[in-house]
Amino acid sequence: MTDCIFCKIVAGDIPASLCYEDDHIIAFADIEPQAPVHKLIIPKQHIARLIDLTEQECAIVGRLQWVAAKLAKDMGFADSGFRTVMNCNDEGGQTVYHIHCHLLAGRQMQWPPG
Ligand code: AMP
Ligand code: ZN
Repeated sequence: MTDCIFCKIVAGDIPASLCYEDDHIIAFADIEPQAPVHKLIIPKQHIARLIDLTEQECAIVGRLQWVAAKLAKDMGFADSGFRTVMNCNDEGGQTVYHIHCHLLAGRQMQWPPG
């Protein structure tokens, strides 16, 4: 997708502070962090919204969560705790239409979320 900001990050056309990459996934620092640790974990494949994910593609979301857990362990906050969030569509708070998992840590999370 040429007009997708996250596809441009995947392609290296927009800079990002990468903290993980494999054949399918990249993770990088959120430009507007909402917690001391705020990473975005995204598939290299463009999928606009969680509701666009097909059954054949569902392992991609499992991989996003697996990378979140791996980063939590590698970065040392797995035991203290963290939160993963995926927003979908306007009322869900989605602003970038390329699926991504937020990884938030480093402070006490609140419930219910805003
Ligand atoms: P969402 O609102 O769930 O769609 O999340 C989109 C996230 O992308 C927000 O937290 C933004 O701060 C973040 N974001 C937007 N543009 C960039 C960028 N160029 N680099 C890093 N994070 C970005
Ligand atoms: Zn995209």
